[in-house]
Amino acid sequence: SSVTEVLRISWHRVSIPQNFTDYESIKQYNPQIPENFNFAKDVLDVWAEQEKRGQRADGPALWWVNDRKEEVRWSFDELGFHSRRLANVLSGVCSLNQQDRVFLVLPKVPEWWLVNVACLRTGTVLLPGTYQLTARDILHRLQTSRARCVITDESLAPVLDSVASQCSSLQHKLLVSPTKRDGWMNFGDLLRNASSDHECVNTRSDDPMTIFFTSGTTGSPKMTQHSHSSYGIGLTVNGRYWLDLTERDVLWNTSDTGWAKSAWSSVFAPWTQGACVFIHHMPRFNSHTVLETLSNYPITTFCTAPTAYRMLVQEDLSKYHFNTLQHCLSAGEPINPDVMRKWKDATGLDIYEGYGQTETVLIAGTFKGMKINAGSFGKASPAYDVQVVDEAGNVLPRGVEGNIGIRVKPHKPFCLFTEYTDDLVRTAECYVGDFYLTGDRGRMDQDGYLWFEGRADDVILSAGYRIGPFEVENALIEHQAVAESAVVSSPDPIRGEVVKAFVVLTPEYKSQDQDQLVKKLQTHVKEVTAPYKYPRKIEFVEQLPKTISGKIRRVELRNKEWGRS
Ligand code: ATP
Ligand code: MG
Repeated sequence: SSVTEVLRISWHRVSIPQNFTDYESIKQYNPQIPENFNFAKDVLDVWAEQEKRGQRADGPALWWVNDRKEEVRWSFDELGFHSRRLANVLSGVCSLNQQDRVFLVLPKVPEWWLVNVACLRTGTVLLPGTYQLTARDILHRLQTSRARCVITDESLAPVLDSVASQCSSLQHKLLVSPTKRDGWMNFGDLLRNASSDHECVNTRSDDPMTIFFTSGTTGSPKMTQHSHSSYGIGLTVNGRYWLDLTERDVLWNTSDTGWAKSAWSSVFAPWTQGACVFIHHMPRFNSHTVLETLSNYPITTFCTAPTAYRMLVQEDLSKYHFNTLQHCLSAGEPINPDVMRKWKDATGLDIYEGYGQTETVLIAGTFKGMKINAGSFGKASPAYDVQVVDEAGNVLPRGVEGNIGIRVKPHKPFCLFTEYTDDLVRTAECYVGDFYLTGDRGRMDQDGYLWFEGRADDVILSAGYRIGPFEVENALIEHQAVAESAVVSSPDPIRGEVVKAFVVLTPEYKSQDQDQLVKKLQTHVKEVTAPYKYPRKIEFVEQLPKTISGKIRRVELRNKEWGRS
């Protein structure tokens, strides 16, 4: 079977919708998922076969570079070769069985991708954690997940050792490093000595495949479990429709390895399409390096977070020429229309927005060929029937604000998470009536575009009005003084709560009179949006609290305002 055949099984009723008004018929689909599915065998190995027969366009499956001009390029065949050796390490020396959990904490090094594929081959469940975890985070994750094996590098190994004795399930520690460490097996040595003969295990489509942690924007991160088909087949929708990839494309997605977005856009989505995954491993985000990389490598497709675009548009973009870049995408948070405009003015390219969660694949997006409505994240993805519903799960009329939900009856979409691991109560709380509730609020307009209002917790209720922080933030960023901002509710003796903005100033405005600036910004917001939304309080700050994936943690600012811990 060819890759496309396998993936077509699931989307057989989804023809590429050139005309996005055909959506109604697509949304009701009930795909036939094969009983067994394994992304390594059914997709990656098939690409490798096609490569050998000269049936896939030239170009690597993985192209990795770093700041020291080191480079790794693997074809699908090479990816297969290395990952099969690693699979033998996992099931041999580490004696891991199918469904045992492997905790992986590495920065963006090629080994991270090998572990991803080797876990698929052995049927072990991969738990990627972000590289910036503290000892406490790691302990918590190891204990709750009962992981049997951990894979990390020399910087985090001591942190791991400091908590390992409290993790009774943990049996094997693999070190990715040229150096040795007591109590640890060396990843590279084991790999070199392992055989590359490995037969991929049989996995059922609904067997657990991965557990990703949510970003922790609203509280502590939740362990979110997905099956083999959920991401493995479900993310086809991201690859084909949203990222618009083919075998000839080179996709650079900048997200952290601990974030589900890296499974989305750095593993499954591009490889469903046979595209090349490009990675630039930089110690920390650097606008200049990003822009240079986009100019110097044949990247066709670029996907990053709004926070990164906000930084990039502060640079002099006219100094760079992106010769191969064709398609730019943003997800994870709302992208400001002002930033989209600036990016387009400088590069000629639109930013296509995507909306989804660790729990899902793409829920909605702006797809190539579709009219872009800045401020809306687009229309429902073919994967789901998305509706705006009330607290009881009743579908609300177009234009009315409510909860963004995904229909789960009569058929629960296969590409929705299985559960929050070991937390049935929390899992059950997400479902109301026929819907899974995202926890986000918004509305759908007459044309089917979805407009985000905010996370349910972030919406501000002031003097009878409901105010989404994003609208106020969008208004603020249009002013030259504002680099970025976060808007939250703040207590007020008369109104109960009022709008407060935390503002990071652009360099030119840092030394200006702050009282005057407050007035100017307030007037500005009143002019560009409904006046009741203007921030009655403004505080200037050097930076905003953010998650590792770069999302603004409004909850932290809000708690401070309300004197909560
Ligand atoms: P936690 O659930 O731990 O609080 P999180 O919800 O940020 O963290 P993720 O699963 O990484 O964890 O993010 C999904 C959320 O990100 C969505 O529910 C939504 O609130 C937000 N989001 C993602 N994309 C967009 C977008 N394009 N526009 C607005 N919000 C978005
Ligand atoms: Mg969430």
